[in-house]
Amino acid sequence: MNPFNYHTPETQEEALALLHEHGDSAKLMAGGTALVIMMKQRLVVPETLISLHRLRGLTAVQETNGTLQLGALLTHRAAETAPLVRAHLPVLAETYRRVATVRIRNVATVGGALAHADPNQDPPVTLLALDAQVQLASVGGNRTVPLTDFFTDYYETMLRPDELLTAIRVPIPPSHTGSVYVKFLPRTADDYATVGVAATVQVDPATGTCQDCRIALGSVGSTPLRAQQAEAVVRGQRLTPELLREAGAVAQQQTDPISDTRGSADYKRAMAGVFVRRALEQAWQQALATPS
Ligand SMILES: Cc1cc2nc3c(=O)[nH]c(=O)nc-3n(C[C@H](O)[C@H](O)[C@H](O)COP(=O)(O)OP(=O)(O)OC[C@H]3O[C@@H](n4cnc5c(N)ncnc54)[C@H](O)[C@@H]3O)c2cc1C
Repeated sequence: MNPFNYHTPETQEEALALLHEHGDSAKLMAGGTALVIMMKQRLVVPETLISLHRLRGLTAVQETNGTLQLGALLTHRAAETAPLVRAHLPVLAETYRRVATVRIRNVATVGGALAHADPNQDPPVTLLALDAQVQLASVGGNRTVPLTDFFTDYYETMLRPDELLTAIRVPIPPSHTGSVYVKFLPRTADDYATVGVAATVQVDPATGTCQDCRIALGSVGSTPLRAQQAEAVVRGQRLTPELLREAGAVAQQQTDPISDTRGSADYKRAMAGVFVRRALEQAWQQALATPS
């Protein structure tokens, strides 16, 4: 690793002031599970490292006005086991459970996972399907950004160098909504996904038709992506095998995977269609089974 200056601010204000002072030459470190590897590989060579491990107040889970807010420094394991997350967003608790191993989950933070912006990660996929937003802070003020606008390219986001991601806000889905995350990993249970798909489906309980739906995919493009054309195919329709096949085929066309150790681009594209079909069907069945 290159030599670097190391700071351990104790408040958000101190962290933001350091970011403001050092700008592009500084890097924040939360769990460090991604950053330290990148520093060892010299893919990132910061002059200044700002560790967030002493910061207080960014680890809470709060419910306000139908929204669940997760502090950015909450670990994956804390998010997976938080009673409020399990009660209101079981699909999100389950998604965090599917990340790597418990040793990684005990350290990696929910904010670090989004800022890292590896398109193979699991939580961004489910958070996209849940229509989440992120809160960003800088000395200049705060802003809230929909997750659909947050990721811009491989390992790139719209975070400015002087900004800290402080929280994730997730609307609690309305009744008669089913939500699932399906992770396809043919190699080992703690691997990154070959394809990951999250779907939320809200049904009209009287007719069973889809009132609203969101489909998101990971590992099949330079960013996690929303399959909005496939969503349009599904809205207003009834669940049939033909509809699921059509939605899968349309979603598949929106993907742009690369070939790597987890599969060829063609294989990943084909699996994207299959797993969109499965995720949609499971979410739909879950929504239909919701008691009135
Ligand atoms: C062996 C291994 C296997 C893994 N498998 C999976 C998997 O299967 N699925 C999966 O989803 N993930 C997996 N992960 C985890 C994932 O890839 C990241 O390592 C993790 O989510 C990063 O979180 P962190 O808190 O450690 O971030 P860090 O490593 O501390 O930081 C990552 C990046 O985010 C920035 N950053 C961190 N926090 C903030 C903040 N609050 N505001 C602004 N910028 C910030 C840092 O500057 C850095 O650029 C795995 C990791 C490892 C090491």
